[in-house]
Order: sequence, then structure tokens, then C-alpha cells
Amino acid sequence: MNLSQWLGIDIRSADYAYARDESTGYISAKRIPDQWVRTTCGYCSVGCGVELGVKDGKAVAARPDESHPVNRGKLCPKGLSEHHTIGADNRARHPLLRRKGRLERVGWDEALTTMVERFRNVQSKYGPNSLGVLSTGQLVTEEFYALGKLVQVGFGTNNYDGNTTLCMASAVSGYKLSFGSDGPPGAYEDLEKADVILLIGANIADNHPILCQYLDANRQRTLIVADPRVSKTAMMADLHLPLKPRSDLALLNGMAHILIRHGLINREYIDQHTSGFDELGKFLESYPPERVATLTGLSEELLYKVTLLYARAKAAFIGWTMGVNHSTLGTQTVNAICNLALLTGQIGRAGASPFSITGQCNAMGTREAGCTSGLPGYRRFDDPAERAEIAALWGVDESRLPKARGMAYPDIVEGAVSRKIRALWIIATNPLVSFPNQDVLRHALSNLDFLVVQDGYHPTPTTELADLLLPAAIWGEKEGTYTNSERRVSKVNRAVAPPAEARPDFDIFLATAEKLGCRDLLYPGWHSPGDAFNEWRRVSRGRLCDYSGITYELLDREGAVPWPFPEGRTDCSPSRLYADGQFRTSDGRAKLICADWQPFP
Ligand code: SF4
Repeated sequence: MNLSQWLGIDIRSADYAYARDESTGYISAKRIPDQWVRTTCGYCSVGCGVELGVKDGKAVAARPDESHPVNRGKLCPKGLSEHHTIGADNRARHPLLRRKGRLERVGWDEALTTMVERFRNVQSKYGPNSLGVLSTGQLVTEEFYALGKLVQVGFGTNNYDGNTTLCMASAVSGYKLSFGSDGPPGAYEDLEKADVILLIGANIADNHPILCQYLDANRQRTLIVADPRVSKTAMMADLHLPLKPRSDLALLNGMAHILIRHGLINREYIDQHTSGFDELGKFLESYPPERVATLTGLSEELLYKVTLLYARAKAAFIGWTMGVNHSTLGTQTVNAICNLALLTGQIGRAGASPFSITGQCNAMGTREAGCTSGLPGYRRFDDPAERAEIAALWGVDESRLPKARGMAYPDIVEGAVSRKIRALWIIATNPLVSFPNQDVLRHALSNLDFLVVQDGYHPTPTTELADLLLPAAIWGEKEGTYTNSERRVSKVNRAVAPPAEARPDFDIFLATAEKLGCRDLLYPGWHSPGDAFNEWRRVSRGRLCDYSGITYELLDREGAVPWPFPEGRTDCSPSRLYADGQFRTSDGRAKLICADWQPFP
């Protein structure tokens, strides 16, 4: 008798591993799921396919979705333990309202009525922008899209930002300045196809572990890792550049100097597809190897070696993440990375790309659809044609759309200190753990007239300060889509019900709009995330991040589909932006940008 027969359950042999009781080590029937639900990992931006095991309505195990094109049958330890996030003891279960200093249980109706009344009171006294909203990279794209409309049109404040500003705003700004639009140009597959890979400020072995299998599959590659620390990723490198902290920009400028001085550039590509070459050449004269060696702590010989490797590559890839983005010169460093790719024509081909690796599972979704740093679909707040387009798509008067970006996350916090912000709605983020300046943040939160925290967990350091807590469903309990770092959209599915009275963020936004009296305007005919997704497909049509050809059915079949995916496209394999050398700038040319290194402030 085999184990399946013994337990009376049809179980694949591969499932035994997930059935092991973590405390005793024995295989336990309690952990053998009745069903496995396909979904996408909610931890990091790699976007791995997961199957969540459910038994008696509870999430009991997680395993890789072997058919998913991103992770190819593997998960890292975070993904493998993801079911524990659902069953945690400190899940938020009921709306709680502060009365006489204590958080007391109230019904949803009272909670949302109170929230809308308090926000409206503050706005009528101090102006619409006295309300601030801080969101996250954790919601599904459908929720980001719904929230953007609710905040910008429903509540009429543009002081709306996400914690994503603290992690990848530099990549967004850098791409916009260099290429005219946000959007990572490459694909993970480039890690397999490049012959030279430079990782800078990126410790993927720890933070994006599944990406390492793409490196492992590439037998031809030379891996260069620029990192002041001997990180786990640096230990995998063929060449480790232990540069001084925050000297990455000097290194990149020094490499560009050597490329130009020794004619190692792709003159044809530069002439046809870029602007600003003469200015950049002049500017880079101040980055000779001897100065760069002093700034970086790397020898001149090493600088030449790494530059020659990059210049002679048939396909060269530069990947970066928070080591670059978190710098006070993050945007400039991204521009210097893009310069290297443009000077050598290493962009828009398999293996050739400058490539930002994002942090949170759906930071990309908020960049594309979220309405924080621009209108949905990478449209600009200050472009009259793009504003008119969105107003028409939404059926609202253009005057209801913001004309400019409001305060960024740190400015909203400082705004609360100076009392420009009087009420704040924090959604799916825990700034009292993650915000850099805790003293200022505590001061800010204690200064507010009304603080609403919407979260899947309670108590957390932030929910404990709330005047109103809205309990939210989390990953595994709701439906929608995530977009990963390589622009691949993947389905997120509900496997279990949220605890007690917790509700999906999507439902909370719709119910809030109802209380505001604008549900039909903002969400016409919407009942489920699929309705939001279908509207977002229409809104993104023709944009760089075109989702119009993506459907939930296609995602269910393919596992993951990259944008741009206009209607009519059938090829779901990874894609590259700018393959035709046409960029999203006014003249169609990418900009070579002079980005000066500066010492630590
Ligand atoms: Fe999840 Fe990221 Fe690990 Fe993949 S690499 S399993 S997406 S945490």
C-alpha cells in the first residue's frame, strides 16, 4: 500500500515534502491539501508562480507552479513558506474605531461612514489637499487602478503616493529622463543570453533568489558584481568590484570615459537613436581613470578590464536594484547606466539591456496604473492631450484630474508635521517599521486630526496609532494581477476566505466610493476585480504598457504574459522594449545625460 492509499487521498509523490509537519518532521495528513490553487508569489518582484495548498478552508502549504514560465518549477524559501502569512495570529479581523483613546469594534458601515465624514470635514476646513494617502507595492493592479480613481477624482487630493517611492522612484525617474518613459526594457531571459552581465547594487542571491537560476543556465557568461560588500552574489562573480560606498556613479562615468576615449562606442547607434553625445563627451573628460580610481578605490587596471569586457560583449546586460535606487544620486546613477547601454547599443536585443529589478511584488502595477506619479498608462499630469484622453475614458470633467504630481511620500510625512496634511489614509504598509526617519514619522502621525490604517495585520506599530483600522484581505484571499520586474503580468487568485470581517482592498474602495456618492461615476458597472481589469485594458490601449490583449483567461492558460500586449498579439514569450531604436521622447531619441558624481552629503 502506498502513502496515497494509506491516507485515502490522491497525492503526488512531490507533495510529500509539503506534508511534513514542521515541528515533528513527520508526514502529517493534516498538511496534505484537498486542493491546490494556482497563484503568483506575493513577496518579491520576480513574480514566481505558486500553488497554494488548501485543506478544510485553510492554507496549509505552498509549492512551485511547475508550468509557470518565470520560476520553472522552483521557489525560494520565502515563497515556500508563504502560507504562514495567511494564518498568522495577528491578522486584522474587525473594523476598529478609537473612542476615548481605545480602539473599539464597529461595523463596516459605521467605519466607512466615519472615514468619509472625517476626511470630508478636514477637506472642507483646510482644502482638498489636506488629505494625504500613502499606499504600497502590495496591492493587485486592479486595486491600484481603483484606488487612483478614488483618491484623485473621488476625494480630489493629489497628495497621494506609495512606499514604492522609497525604493524604485530612482529607476522610474531615470528611465523617464533617459528614454522618455518608465518601463524596464529587458527580460530575465537576458541573464541567460548575455555574455557579459554587470550587477550593480543588486544582491539577487539573497533578495531575488530565483533569478540566480537564469544565471546558472548561462554557461558562457562573465558575471561582474559591483558591490562594496562581499555579498552572496559577489561570491558568485567572475569579477567582483569592491568599490567604495556610493562611488557607483563615478565608476559608470569612468567606464563611459574609457569607451569614448578608446573608440569602443557604437557610433551608428548613437547617431541614429540618441541625443546629447557631444555634451556627454565633454562632460566625461573630467572622469579619467586616475580620478575614478581614487573615487572608487578600484585600480585603473580593473577599470580598463571591466570596461573592455563590457565593450567587447556581443550582448551585455546591466542589472541593478536598491543599492543604486536608494542613493541620493539614484536617478543620476540610473542615467549613467542607461548612458553605457546607449553608447554601445546594448539595448533592445536579447541579452542586451539596462534593467531595474524591482522590490515589492507589484510595484510595477502601481507604476503603470496607480495614478501617483502620473496618470494611468504612463501619461503625464501636465500633458493636455493625455489629460483629455483620460478624462474622456473616465467620463469626468478634465478639471477633476490633477494638473501636477502632489507631495511625495516623505513630503506627506513632513506635511503632517507642518499641519498641511490633516488626515491620512495608510494602505498596506507599515511605515513605523519601514520609513527611514522614525522620529519625524512619529511626530507626523501624532499631529494628525484623523489617521486611517488599512492593513491585513493588527496590531502592528502603525495600526496601534490608528484612529480607524480597516481590516483587509491579503495575498491568498483575493483576486487580481501582479506585474513583475520584466513586465510580465500574472494572475493572483483567492484560495481561502479572509478572516472574520476582513475584506479585499478592492471591496473597501468600492464601498468607500459608495459612501462618497461617486461609485457609479468611478466604477460604472464594476462588481469584481475583472471589471477593473477590463477598464484598465482599455485605458492602457496604445500606450507603452499596453494590456489590451491580455485577459484573465489568457493568464490562466499561459501563466504570465508580458506587456506591451496589444489586441491581436499571440506571442507570450518575453519581450524587449526599444528594439526599433524608437524612444518615448519628443524626438524619438534616447537622451545621453551628464550625471555628476558627488560625495556623500
Ligand atoms: Fe517569491 Fe521572489 Fe522567492 Fe520567487 S524569488 S518565490 S517571487 S520571494
